Amino acid sequence: MSYDYDLFVIGAGSGGLAASKRAASYGAKVAIAEGDKVGGTCVMRGCIPKKLMVYGSKFSHLFADAVGYGWRPVRAKVNWERLMQAVHQEVNRLSQLHISYLAKAGVELLPFFARFADPHTLELVDRQGEVQQRVTAAKILIAVGGEAIKPNVPGIEYSITSREMFLLPKQPKRLAILGGGYISVEFAGILRGLGTEVIHFLRGDRPLRHFDQDIQDGVYEGMLRHGVDVRPRCHISSLTLTQKGKIRVHYEQQGQTYETKVDAVLCAVGRAPNLQGLGLERAGVHLSANSEGIVAIPVDEYYRTNQEHIFAVGDCTNRVNLTPVAIAEGRAFADTQFGNQPRTLSYENIPSAVFSQPEAASVGLSEAQAKAKLGEDKVKIYRTAFRPLYYSLSGREEKAIVKLVVEKDTGWVLGAHMVGDNAAEIIQGIAIALKMGATKKDFDATLAIHPSTAEEFVTLR
Ligand code: NDP
Repeated sequence: MSYDYDLFVIGAGSGGLAASKRAASYGAKVAIAEGDKVGGTCVMRGCIPKKLMVYGSKFSHLFADAVGYGWRPVRAKVNWERLMQAVHQEVNRLSQLHISYLAKAGVELLPFFARFADPHTLELVDRQGEVQQRVTAAKILIAVGGEAIKPNVPGIEYSITSREMFLLPKQPKRLAILGGGYISVEFAGILRGLGTEVIHFLRGDRPLRHFDQDIQDGVYEGMLRHGVDVRPRCHISSLTLTQKGKIRVHYEQQGQTYETKVDAVLCAVGRAPNLQGLGLERAGVHLSANSEGIVAIPVDEYYRTNQEHIFAVGDCTNRVNLTPVAIAEGRAFADTQFGNQPRTLSYENIPSAVFSQPEAASVGLSEAQAKAKLGEDKVKIYRTAFRPLYYSLSGREEKAIVKLVVEKDTGWVLGAHMVGDNAAEIIQGIAIALKMGATKKDFDATLAIHPSTAEEFVTLR
C-alpha cells in the first residue's frame, strides 16, 4: 500500500516541529498540519510572550533599585498597548522563522486542522469546518498540545485563561488569580510589576506544591514582599458580573464568606490535552484518564499509541508538560522511526524553572521526595538563605535561597534548588552536574566565582 506521506504530523508546536524536521532530515516525506499560527503554545501564548512580559515587568523594580545606586528617581508608567504590541510583533516574527525552518528542512506545511477519517487517512479542515483535503500517511504523529482547563464554579465563564491574558486590550487595575501553579505565580509577578493590584487565591497553603518546601516558602514570601495579596486556603464559590462590567469574586476562607471586585479573573488551575475534534475513535486510538480525570493519549517508551503506526509526543500525552521535553520526545521519536537509531528518553533530573518574582528553579529530588525515597536519616540538607549583594545598596529586602539535597552515604547530590535572581540560568548549569552523578565533594572541589549568588552552591557547609 502506498501513502501520500511517510510521516504526517498533527500540530506545529514544540514537539511537532522538532519531530517533523528531524524525520525529514533522514529523507522521509513529511507534512505537518497546523490550523493556528505555527509555533504552538510555547511560542504563541506561553513561554516566549510570558518571558518577554516578565522582562517588561521588572523595570519597575530596577527603577526603584537605581535610587540606592545614586540615580535620580524615575517616575515611569508602562504603556500596556505598546508592550503588548512589541510582544506580539516578536512572537509573530518567531512564528515566521519557524515556517522558514520547516521549508528549509523540506517539510510541507498544511495550514489546516487535521482529523482522522480512518487509521491512515486524515481530513484537513479549515476554520469554517470545511474539509479542504484528504491525505494518507504511513505513520502519524499526534502533537496537539494542551489547553487551560477551568473548574466547575458558577460564573467561571467570566474568567480568562493565560491564552486571553496576552490579548487583553487594557491592563487590569485589579486582577484576581485562581490556582497556585507555574502560570499563576508567573502572571502574579508580571502584573504586579506592571502596577496592577493582584489578589492571588490559593486553595492550599502555598503555591508550587510540587516543588521543594523552600521554593514554596521562598516564592510565597517574595510575592508578599512584592505586594501581591496572596490569600491561602480559599474556596471560590462563584463569580458574578457587576452592572459596570467588573467581576465579583465570592469566596470562602476559614469558614467565612467574602467577596471582592476586580477587573479581570485569571484562571490558572492546570491544563489538559487538546484532543477534541481529532476523531481518534475513527483511528482506534485509546485514551486514558489520570486520577484527576485528565484524559490523555497513553504511549509506550517509544511514543507509540495502541496503534502500531500512530504516535504521540508532548503535552497531549500529559507526562512532563514542558517545552524542552516535547522537543526531546519529538527528536527521539524521529531518530527511532526514521533514523534507524532507536532510543528512549530519561525523565530523571529534568530541570525546571518558574519565572515568578522572585524566580525559582529546581533539578532532581526535593527534600521531601528524597526523604520519602531513602529514609529521613539517609539524606543531608545543605542550605543557605541570604540577601544578595545587589540588594545591599538598593535597600530592597530580597532573599535568595540555595539548597542541595544529598545522599548521606554516597555524597551524591540528589537535588538542587534555588530561589532568587537568575535561578533558571544557574540551575541549568547545576543540572549538568547532577546528570553526570556529581557528589557533594565534586561541588566542594569546584572553585567559586566571587562575588556571585551561584558560588553558594560550591561553598555550602
Ligand atoms: P499547574 O498544573 O502547575 O498547577 C495547577 C494549580 O491549580 C495548582 O496550584 C492546584 O492547586 C490548582 N488547582 C487545581 N484545581 C483547582 C481548583 N479546582 N481550584 C483552585 N485551584 C486549583 O497548572 P498551571 O496552569 O499553572 O500550568 C500548567 C502546566 O503548564 C504546568 O504543569 C507546566 O507543565 C506548564 N508550564 C510550565 C512553565 C515553566 O516551565 N516555567 C510555565 C507555565 C506553564 P494544588 O496545588 O492545591 O493542587
